[in-house]
Amino acid sequence: MLCYPDRRTALRATAAVAAGALTAACGTGGGGPSASRPAPAAPATPKAAVPAPAPAPAPRRFPGQPVEIAHGPRDHPKVALTFHGNGDPATGRAVLAEAEKAGARITVLAIGTWLDDHPDMARRILDGGHELGNHTHHHLAINALPETEAYAEITGCAQRLKRLTGSIGTWFRPSQTQNASPLVQKLAQRAGYPHVLSYDVDSLDFTSPGAAAVIRNVTGTIHGGSVVSLHFGYADTVDAMPPLLEELARRKLRAVTTTELLTP
Ligand SMILES: [Zn+2]
Repeated sequence: MLCYPDRRTALRATAAVAAGALTAACGTGGGGPSASRPAPAAPATPKAAVPAPAPAPAPRRFPGQPVEIAHGPRDHPKVALTFHGNGDPATGRAVLAEAEKAGARITVLAIGTWLDDHPDMARRILDGGHELGNHTHHHLAINALPETEAYAEITGCAQRLKRLTGSIGTWFRPSQTQNASPLVQKLAQRAGYPHVLSYDVDSLDFTSPGAAAVIRNVTGTIHGGSVVSLHFGYADTVDAMPPLLEELARRKLRAVTTTELLTP
C-alpha cells in the first residue's frame, strides 16, 4: 500500500528530471545569451545549502579595439596565455595547476565536443580564476565552411558553455586559423561575441617540438600586451609551463586573463 504513492512520486520526479534535461538540451537554439537556465523547481527544492555559482562573465565590447584582437596595450607589462581546450583533461588540469602555483591566470578556448566529454572542466577552469571561451563545436576549418555551418559551429559551443556556466564565454576564437574571415567575424558578433580573439605569439606546441622549443618560441617574440597561442592536450606544454612562467616573472611580465590584459 505504502509503496504505491511513493513509486508514483518517484516516477513523477524522474519524469520531471527528464523533462528538465530535455529543455536544457533543446531550449537554447540560436545561441542567444539569455535562454538556458531551467525554471526554478518550486516547492520540492531542498534547503539550498550550496548556492548555485553565479553565472560566468559574459562577452564584453572593448571600445577602441578592433573586432579581431591579436594583442593588448604594448605599454603594460601583462601578457595573456591562451589555450585551445581539447585533449586529455589530465594535461589541462596539469597546466591549470602549474599556472596557479605561479599565480598566473590563463584563458581557455574550449571545443564543444570536449565540453561534452569533460563537462567538469568548465567549472574547474572558472573556479581557478581563469577565463573560459568558445573555440567552436568541432574545431573544423571554420573560414572554409558555408555560412549556416560556420554559424552552427559557433552557436553549438556557445550553447554548451551557456548550459554549463550560465554564459556563452567571454571570447570566441576561430578554429584552424589565426584570423577569422570577415564572414566568421560577422557570425561571431551575431552569436553574441563583440570581438574575435586572435594572437600574436605562436608557441607551436601542437607540433610537439619538445618543451625547450615551446619555451623558445614564446620567449623569442613575447612582449608586453602579447596574446600567446598554446594548447591543452600536449605533454610538452605541461613541461614548458614552469620554466616559461619563471622566465615571464624574470621579465616582469604578468600572465593574466585576456579580459585583464585589455582592461587598463
Ligand atoms: Zn584550436
